Amino acid sequence: MKVLVIGGMHGNETLGLEVVKLFKDKSVKAVDVLLANEQAIEGNCRFVGQDLNRSFPGDSNSPEYEPRRASEILKQTKKYDVVLDFHNTYCPNNDCGFIGDNANDNLTDVAWLLGFDKVIVADYDCINKAANNCISVEVSLDSPLNNAELWYERIVMLSRLDSFTATSNIHKYRFVYRMTIQDKERLKLDEQKLLAFQPLSRELADAMGVSSPAYPIFIGDSYTPYNYGGLLNRL
Ligand SMILES: [Zn+2]
Repeated sequence: MKVLVIGGMHGNETLGLEVVKLFKDKSVKAVDVLLANEQAIEGNCRFVGQDLNRSFPGDSNSPEYEPRRASEILKQTKKYDVVLDFHNTYCPNNDCGFIGDNANDNLTDVAWLLGFDKVIVADYDCINKAANNCISVEVSLDSPLNNAELWYERIVMLSRLDSFTATSNIHKYRFVYRMTIQDKERLKLDEQKLLAFQPLSRELADAMGVSSPAYPIFIGDSYTPYNYGGLLNRL
């Protein structure tokens, strides 16, 4: 199958940049690569005007860089069977794939095949919502999966498959809430010792208006200091 690898959706997250570089150094017929937020990569920052991964579907006539870039990238994604969009997080034990609400049926199996046991359905304006063939690959900085060579090999393997059937035991979640800095202060979340994918107490879920059990992710991630994390429910 034809695969597009996207690095630098957030310009300062390095795994995707390294994977793209490996494919540039040693190209593979069925795999193309793309650097997403070129200006942010240049500046080693998350974004320049606004978060590129909150700019989809984008706007080719926008005066701002990121909405224009989102529109260009979305056009590119249409030529591929699978699009892999790479991200990093400081939050430990947070490895997972993100897909959109209307993701192609095979995408969960692709996530499983690539080594994930958790996939999250996101319905905010990210690339996954706009591109039904796109999985965002979210890897903790201290994870064994934060290894570009390993992803190079797995992507080459994926590109060699025409079709496959996988018996996936993947856990599916829905992104339901963004924990704010106000939540952190109001509920003293730092003292709760939250861990990714470990359910928080019913009291805390209630206090944030989310059904229990709720599973936190991206807790206190230094890449996104303007919020405290996300909450998931199981699907
Ligand atoms: Zn990211």
